[in-house]
Amino acid sequence: MNHFNYINNQLHAEQVALSEIAKSYGTPTYVYSKATIERHYHAFNTPFADYPHRICYSVKANSNIAVLQQLKRLGAGFDIVSLGEFHRVIKAGGKPEDIVFSGLAKTTEELTVTLDAGISCFNLESENELHRLQTVAEKLGKTATISIRINPDVDAKTHHHITTGKKQNKFGIDIETAKRLYKEARKMPFIEIAGVDYHIGSQITTLEPITKAVDTAIELIQELKESGIQIKHLDVGGGLGIPYKDEVPPHPTEYVNSIVERVKPYNLEIILEPGRCIIGNAGVLITKVEYLKKGEMKNFAVIDAGMNDYIRPSLYDAWQNIIEVNNNTDAEKFECDVVGPICESSDVLGKERTLKVNEGDLLALTSVGAYGFSMSSNYNTRPKPAEVLVDGDKVHLIRRRETYEDMIGPENLLD
Ligand SMILES: *Cc1c(COP(=O)(O)O)cnc(C)c1O
Repeated sequence: MNHFNYINNQLHAEQVALSEIAKSYGTPTYVYSKATIERHYHAFNTPFADYPHRICYSVKANSNIAVLQQLKRLGAGFDIVSLGEFHRVIKAGGKPEDIVFSGLAKTTEELTVTLDAGISCFNLESENELHRLQTVAEKLGKTATISIRINPDVDAKTHHHITTGKKQNKFGIDIETAKRLYKEARKMPFIEIAGVDYHIGSQITTLEPITKAVDTAIELIQELKESGIQIKHLDVGGGLGIPYKDEVPPHPTEYVNSIVERVKPYNLEIILEPGRCIIGNAGVLITKVEYLKKGEMKNFAVIDAGMNDYIRPSLYDAWQNIIEVNNNTDAEKFECDVVGPICESSDVLGKERTLKVNEGDLLALTSVGAYGFSMSSNYNTRPKPAEVLVDGDKVHLIRRRETYEDMIGPENLLD
């Protein structure tokens, strides 16, 4: 069931009109649907039935603490990539043992704080990181549980900026080196080997690279077993795509089934790290049309949200649906590019669209819950937007709009 619908020609999130949210909280504002997040969590969780698994939501996709809190209540664990994300998870009610730590530049401070707290697994990205972690663990007198992020060298067939599992990418460790490192790790007194992990890319829309990576990992796990190294879990990362335009990605059920059927004979716990697929279609960005501008070559709808609020179209050429909040208008059709206020020519949210809007009307960018607010910035000294979460007919302000003091306060003038 879709939780963003037109009711009496007015776009709603669950039972709340987006125009009411704009009235109360201004624009641009991110609006999330609680029921959608819940549905997506269950879409991943249910097909596992009794099979041992953990769903560790990828915090970087949307790291608002209320979103993390809801996911924790649903039973999720968390995949983090920084100490900042660790603090968010703890603030949201998550426990260190719910956390796996990914990322290729973990600092000594990050390793120390998270090991001391007792996180469940470090997903290691390099030989030197393994050595650094052993040193940190020895100093603390605590055992660090690890997985090695392999680079399965599969092509996720997604945008080149979000492909991560090819040889030439900076992520992961090639299989041969990984074998050697597992053998070294086994001898380290403060390291405990638990898993194998990878993350091959994002917005993946076919099963083939996903199953290929599982097969590669299982082959490695079998080889390790023969040399006496017992792997307990396989962490397959995230990356399952969502429909933005005309993509038809596999359903989470199909995705989970294809992994479970391969892994089952080996009795491994499965860890998933979905981000986009949980939160992407659970969010819209409401924005106001400031100006309709007729140009010589092109027309422009100039809106109050820009690449600072939502960067994916500028960064990845991502296509984003842009729809009228009020479907019942006497406005004339306007063929235009939808552009933001930022002083960059790449600040285009949608190219060659047909809209029926007047100046002052509201638009919604849909499917922006993932890599939306979490990638936003203050470029051009524009405050970050508000975020609200809708639950039925209730609206929770989960992040107020930033103020000028929020932006300028940390700075100092010269003496
Ligand atoms: C970004 C990331 C994810 C989540 O990817 P999605 O495409 O949002 O599902 C999972 N694991 C790791 C290691 C990541 O870097």
